[in-house]
Amino acid sequence: MKATLLGTGTSSGVPRIACDCAVCLSSDPRNKRLRCSLLVEGSGGNILVDTTPDLRLQSLRQGLRRVDAVLFTHPHVDHLYGLDELRSFCFGRSAPIPCYGDEGTLGRIRHVFDYAFKPVYQGMTESVPQLSLNSIAGPFELCGCPVEPLTVHHGRLPILAYRFGSFAYVTDCNAIPPASLGRLRGLEVLVLDALRHNNHPTHFTVAQALEVVAELRPRRAYLTHIAHDLDHEKTNAALPAGVELAYDGLSFEVA
Ligand SMILES: [Zn+2]
Ligand SMILES: [Zn+2]
Ligand SMILES: [Zn+2]
Repeated sequence: MKATLLGTGTSSGVPRIACDCAVCLSSDPRNKRLRCSLLVEGSGGNILVDTTPDLRLQSLRQGLRRVDAVLFTHPHVDHLYGLDELRSFCFGRSAPIPCYGDEGTLGRIRHVFDYAFKPVYQGMTESVPQLSLNSIAGPFELCGCPVEPLTVHHGRLPILAYRFGSFAYVTDCNAIPPASLGRLRGLEVLVLDALRHNNHPTHFTVAQALEVVAELRPRRAYLTHIAHDLDHEKTNAALPAGVELAYDGLSFEVA
């Protein structure tokens, strides 16, 4: 199973529009962060985690040619509102792309992208994305990968993190309840939210993320959902062994 981070930036992306800070003006490509999403290539196809407003650019940049299923973490704009771009992955498919999320996310999809579910457009791939919506109830298998959904807290909103075998993707959270923490042990790779150094009501800071890493002890950890406060090189140099700041395009193989 291969995992690739298609985006590692916070909701505004980095550089931020109209910002003249050192990170936004930096020429280091690792300081250029599209909105957070993940590609998991399993033996049975490609799983996309979240459809960001940058999905078109991310797909072109990655040379992504097919999406066989989509998992959603939560319905915030930076994780969902590029959903219409899935249309390009529907061309030539005989069946809708299966999408999975919690009830809150599926409700938001039906509301914001209502046109995609109108009976008149069903089967009209040229006009709207052809999608089937599936509520996640527990662990299941997708594209040859074991998928274990885990609840984490993103401020007051419970959202989904995902474990795929020995790899887990935990974006947008500032607390992990004990039941989920117990399911995140023994990992080869953990990708975890770490927005910036200053406190935030819905995201882990770097220090808070490092506390979680110290408790879970994955073999490797990558920090994601990064704001323009963090310069890649400077921040990365200060992280403990086994922990790195993620960057767009980072990929790794996991069992
Ligand atoms: Zn986000
Ligand atoms: Zn900036
Ligand atoms: Zn969010």
